[in-house]
Amino acid sequence: MARRKATQPIQEFPLIRQLQHRHERRSPLIRKGIGDDAAVVSIPTGNWAILTTDLLTEGVHFDLRTASPASVGYRATMANLSDLAAMGAIPRFLLISLAIPPAISRVDIHALYRGLMSACDQHDVRLIGGDTSSSRQGLFLSITLLGTTPKGRALFRRGARVGDGIYVTGTLGDSLAGLQLLTSRTSSRQGTTLKRIDCNYLIDRHRHPTARVKEGLWLNRSQLATSAIDISDGLSGDLRHVCEASRIGADIELSRLPVSPACWAYADKQQVDPCALALAGGEDYELLFTVAPHNEQKLERQARARRFLVTRIGTIRPRRFGLQALASDGTRTPLPITSYRHFT
Ligand code: ADP
Ligand code: MG
Repeated sequence: MARRKATQPIQEFPLIRQLQHRHERRSPLIRKGIGDDAAVVSIPTGNWAILTTDLLTEGVHFDLRTASPASVGYRATMANLSDLAAMGAIPRFLLISLAIPPAISRVDIHALYRGLMSACDQHDVRLIGGDTSSSRQGLFLSITLLGTTPKGRALFRRGARVGDGIYVTGTLGDSLAGLQLLTSRTSSRQGTTLKRIDCNYLIDRHRHPTARVKEGLWLNRSQLATSAIDISDGLSGDLRHVCEASRIGADIELSRLPVSPACWAYADKQQVDPCALALAGGEDYELLFTVAPHNEQKLERQARARRFLVTRIGTIRPRRFGLQALASDGTRTPLPITSYRHFT
C-alpha cells in the first residue's frame, strides 16, 4: 500500500481514546485495562505468567511499501502469539507501544490496530494498554503478551534428548515463497506463471500466518513434547537454538520436510530446491518440537484425532554429531546457517 502523507498531526490522547473505544473488550480477569497508569489483571490460581515481547522497526522487520499497516499489525501480533504457542501457554493480554513518524496518518494507525485485533480476536486475547510516542523517522512497534500455563508446566528449548524424534507442525517455506512473490511483483515480475490459486495461497501464508496456539497447548497438556520452539527464523536457525539449549545434535531428513503443493509448484517454476525454502524460510510460525521414542506413536495418534498436521523430520543425535542434513541419495552435509543476524 502506498504511504499516505499525514493530513494533520496525530493527537495522542484523542487517538488513545478512539483505540480504547474500538478495541477494548471486557473480561472477568481484567481489573483495569486502558486508562490508568498501569493495567491490573488477575491470573488464574495455580498458574505461571508467561511473558514475551517483540520490537519491530520499519525498514528492518517490515516495509510499508510492500505491506499494508493492517498486515504489519496482524503479523507482529501473530509473531508474539507464536512465541507463547511455543511455550505451551494460553495467550491472554496484550500491550502495544508505538513510535509514529510524521508520514503515518491516523487512518494507518487504525488499520494497524484492525490487523492487530483480528489476530487477538482469533485467540481471545485482550488489549489492556500501551504507549504512544512520536518518531522522527520510521514506525516503531513493540508488542508485549502475557499468557499462562499451569504452574510447573511450560515447553522449553532445553529438554530434547538423544534419540527423540524431531517434529514440525504444518508446512515450511510458504511464507518465504509468498514474500518472494510479493517482492518480485514490484520488480522483475518473476513467478507470474504460477497458478493464481497457488500464488494467493503463498501470499496469504506470508500476510496472514497462524500461530499454532492450539497445537502448543496440546503438546504442553499432553506432556508429549520434550522441547519446543517456534519457527520464526527458519528451521535451520531455530533448530540450532534447541540444539544449543539441550546440548545435543540433530539429523534432518530432507525428503521428509513438509512442503505444500503450492510451494512445490513455486520452487519448480523458480528452479530452486524446495528443501532450501523449507530450511531457510522464516516466519512460517510453525512449531518445531521433540518427542521421546516411546511417545511417538501416541503423539501421531493424538495429532490425527485432532486433525493437526505434524511431520517427523529427523532424530536428535549426540552433540558431537552436530547439525546435519541427510539427502535422499544418502549423503550428509552440515545444515546451512541461514538465520538473520542483527548487527552483522
Ligand atoms: P502514561 O503517561 O502514564 O504513560 P499514557 O497517557 O501513555 O499514560 O496512557 C494512558 C493509558 O492509555 C494507559 O492505560 C495506557 O496503557 C494506554 N495507552 C497508551 N497508548 C496506547 C496505545 N497505543 N494503545 C493502547 N493503549 C494505550
Ligand atoms: Mg505512556
